[in-house]
Amino acid sequence: MQHILIIGGGLGGLFAGAILAKEGLEVTVLEKNATAGGGLQSFTRFGEVFDTGMHVAGGLQEGASIRRLCQWLGIWDKMQVEPMPAECIDKLYFAEDRHYYQIASGRAQFVDSLSADFPHQRQHIERYVEAMYSIVDEMDLFHLRPASRTLFSHSEEFNMAADAFIAKYITDPRLRQVAAYLNPLYGGQADMTPAYIHATISVLHLGGLYRFAGGTQQFAETLCDSIRAHGGTVVTGDPVQHIHTEGRGITGVTTRKGRHYSADRYVSAIHPCALLPLFDDPRALPRAYRMRLQQIPSTHSAFLLYLKLKPETFPYLPYSGYYISRYDGVWSAANPFGDAAFFMTPPMPDQGAYSQKMIIAAPMLWHEVSQWADTTLGHRPADYSLWKHTCAETILSKMEEMYPGFRSCVSDINTASPLTIRDYYGTKDGALFGYAKDWRNTALSLVPVVTKIPNLLLTGQCAGLHGFCGVPLTAITTCEALLGPDSITRQFSLC
Ligand SMILES: Cc1cc2nc3c(=O)[nH]c(=O)nc-3n(C[C@H](O)[C@H](O)[C@H](O)COP(=O)(O)OP(=O)(O)OC[C@H]3O[C@@H](n4cnc5c(N)ncnc54)[C@H](O)[C@@H]3O)c2cc1C
Repeated sequence: MQHILIIGGGLGGLFAGAILAKEGLEVTVLEKNATAGGGLQSFTRFGEVFDTGMHVAGGLQEGASIRRLCQWLGIWDKMQVEPMPAECIDKLYFAEDRHYYQIASGRAQFVDSLSADFPHQRQHIERYVEAMYSIVDEMDLFHLRPASRTLFSHSEEFNMAADAFIAKYITDPRLRQVAAYLNPLYGGQADMTPAYIHATISVLHLGGLYRFAGGTQQFAETLCDSIRAHGGTVVTGDPVQHIHTEGRGITGVTTRKGRHYSADRYVSAIHPCALLPLFDDPRALPRAYRMRLQQIPSTHSAFLLYLKLKPETFPYLPYSGYYISRYDGVWSAANPFGDAAFFMTPPMPDQGAYSQKMIIAAPMLWHEVSQWADTTLGHRPADYSLWKHTCAETILSKMEEMYPGFRSCVSDINTASPLTIRDYYGTKDGALFGYAKDWRNTALSLVPVVTKIPNLLLTGQCAGLHGFCGVPLTAITTCEALLGPDSITRQFSLC
């Protein structure tokens, strides 16, 4: 039996592990943190459980790819997910004119919701939605279809700039900006982010969104259980520190606790920039390849607030909220800090009318924290704490603007910065979504799952799409690179 060693037990590592273990391979997952999960990890503060990197999930409605993947893995029934009400999944507030927009899921309902504010654009919105579905239809993997073997190249729209794509269909300048509201969820940048990223995230939203009742950690545990049930192993609390090579092949890894593991093939499910320094001999990878992995720009990071709310003071919001300062700033959500924020009140299994907690994520660029880059968790200086306090105040003032009296609802505040995100997940620049994709330079920003080392593959958000849908789909690509073309997707097309 082939033994596969996976470095990193986050969303990508656990999905790849669960798929490979189900397919009969011997799987070992090595995770640095005390609990597995990466973006699925939750933590407890002030007696409340907070999720770290997964607040809304797409691809889980009946017939959608991630639901089918979870059903195939036999874990769907163990997932405690709740659909968000279709009539309003996102509520946007533009501070510039104090206007609210309600966004519905469902194709027709989405058109209706935007047309409510822009009735003269209804036909444009319909064509825009049609075009997004058409782009997503070009992606076989999104539909769990075996890859098309014809010499098919993507449509011109697939890889054009997302902002240009929107502008092609929507003529009203203000609606163009409103239609781009999701870009904090994929690190969208004007004249850079390709249209297929915008279309994928939008179509996932249109398909309906879900939230994890009671936290995402339970889902990470479910994936670990699935790996173990098939004879695999998940080791936590022990980072891989060294990768040993002979020529251009990996011979084994050593962890911080001094344990040595070797396998037939290795899958890196960590950020490529965290992988490179682990090689005892950097020359195992060609210099040009190393340089390329180091030079790809990152998506933005975020400043996060985890709030415990006083009992029965703030309503439960069944949708995600967005604060956006200016319409023309919508493509630069992270700059300046405080111009945008995304917030949600996570559901409890027995959710009532009031919220017990809130998570706010405000896009932020790495340079805001670069002066403390050399510090580590628990050893940050006093000026960092002061700075965090100021950032929290900036965001709370935006919340107060939307909900007068908001501060009086808050009983406790915990904050995290791009430094926390970097150290927690081991991701370069604390990037929320890994590498930034660039339509002008696809060859640079798209990193294949196969590497220059024959027994090393990549998975995770830097080797494909990010998020709850993108990362598991990338895990399939990685597994198929190990098991044979279409070996997984073919099983879905037969169902
Ligand atoms: C604040 C935030 C909010 C987000 N919100 C959403 C959302 O609502 N919806 C959504 O779809 N996506 C969201 N995302 C994105 C989503 O979390 C990521 O796309 C996804 O988790 C990435 O999965 P991954 O497996 O590539 O990386 P990760 O899940 O980060 O996994 C990498 C793992 O590798 C481990 N590791 C690192 N170095 C080592 C080492 N040397 N040895 C062993 N293990 C190591 C890390 O500890 C980590 O567990 C959010 C991200 C963030 C940061």
